[in-house]
Amino acid sequence: MPKQIRIPEPENELSFIDVHCHLPFPRPKKNDSLPPDEIQYEQFFKIGGLYIITSSIDLITLDMILNFINGKENIGFTCGWAPQTVTYTPKKKHDEEFKKWLDFIMNSQEKYIGIGEIGLDFHHARTLEQRNKQVDIFKEILEKTKNLKKPYILHVRNPTEKEFDRDHPNHRFNAEDGAIKEIINLLKEFNIDFKKIMFHCFSGPQNYGKSLSEKGCILSVPSSAYGFKRWREVTKQAPLNSLVTETDSYYQHPYLRGPVNVPANARYAIAAIAFSHGVSQKKVAEITVQNAIRFFNLKIKK
Ligand SMILES: [Zn+2]
Repeated sequence: MPKQIRIPEPENELSFIDVHCHLPFPRPKKNDSLPPDEIQYEQFFKIGGLYIITSSIDLITLDMILNFINGKENIGFTCGWAPQTVTYTPKKKHDEEFKKWLDFIMNSQEKYIGIGEIGLDFHHARTLEQRNKQVDIFKEILEKTKNLKKPYILHVRNPTEKEFDRDHPNHRFNAEDGAIKEIINLLKEFNIDFKKIMFHCFSGPQNYGKSLSEKGCILSVPSSAYGFKRWREVTKQAPLNSLVTETDSYYQHPYLRGPVNVPANARYAIAAIAFSHGVSQKKVAEITVQNAIRFFNLKIKK
C-alpha cells in the first residue's frame, strides 16, 4: 500500500454487501492472478459478506451470470446495457443484440433485481455522434422500463479536459458535469422517481454528492475509495443513509492499479466511509447494509 495512506484497515467481523461487481466476467487468462469465481463467492461469505449483487453489461455477461447464480444463495444481479457496450459494439450487431436485451428485460422480470448498469460515459464516447447514441439508448431504456417496479443502477462518467469534443467546442456535453447533468435532466423528463436511482461508483463532481442525496438518490462508494482520496471526497458531503458499498470487481482494487479486485473487498469501502465521515466502521457497516437491503428489497437467507 502507498505510504501516505493512514486509513485503518477494515475491522474483523463487519457485515457488508457488495451492491455492484462483475462476477463472473470474461477475464483475460494471461496474467490472471485472481481466485476462481466460485472461490471468490465462497470467500465473500466466510469473512462477513451478506449478499452479492453482480451486474451484466451485455448479452455475453448476462448469459454467464444466469449460469453462475443458478442454485446459489444470497447472490442476485442487475441487468445492464453499459454505455461502453453502446459505444464499442458495431452498429448492426449492437442494434440486434439490444433488441434481445430489451426482450429479456421486459419478459424475465423475476430473474433480475434492478436495471443497470446503464448510463452515459463521456470518457469512452468522445464524439458528439457517439455521445448522442448513448443518450438515445438511455432514453429508449427509460421509455420502455419506466413503469417496471425496478431500481436503476447508473454508470455516469463525465469527460475530463482531455476528452473535450473539439468539433463541437461549445457543446454542453464537454462540461465537467456534462454527463451527470444530462442524466438528471433525462430522469426528470421521464418522471423517474429519484428514490429508485443508484449511482454506481459515484464519481462526482463533489457538489452532486450533496444534491443527489438530497433528491433521494443512493450513492455507491467503491472499494477504491480506500486508497484514492478523490473517491472519498465526492461522497464526503452525502449523509450515511444515502450510501452503499461496492467493489466493481474485478476493477477498482482498494489500493492497487489494475483489474485485480474481488467482492470481499467491499469491506474497504466501509473503512473509507468511516474515515471520511469520522464514524465507526461498525456503524457504517450497519447503515450501509440496511440501505442496500431497503433499496434492492433484498431477502437475505441466514
Ligand atoms: Zn461496473
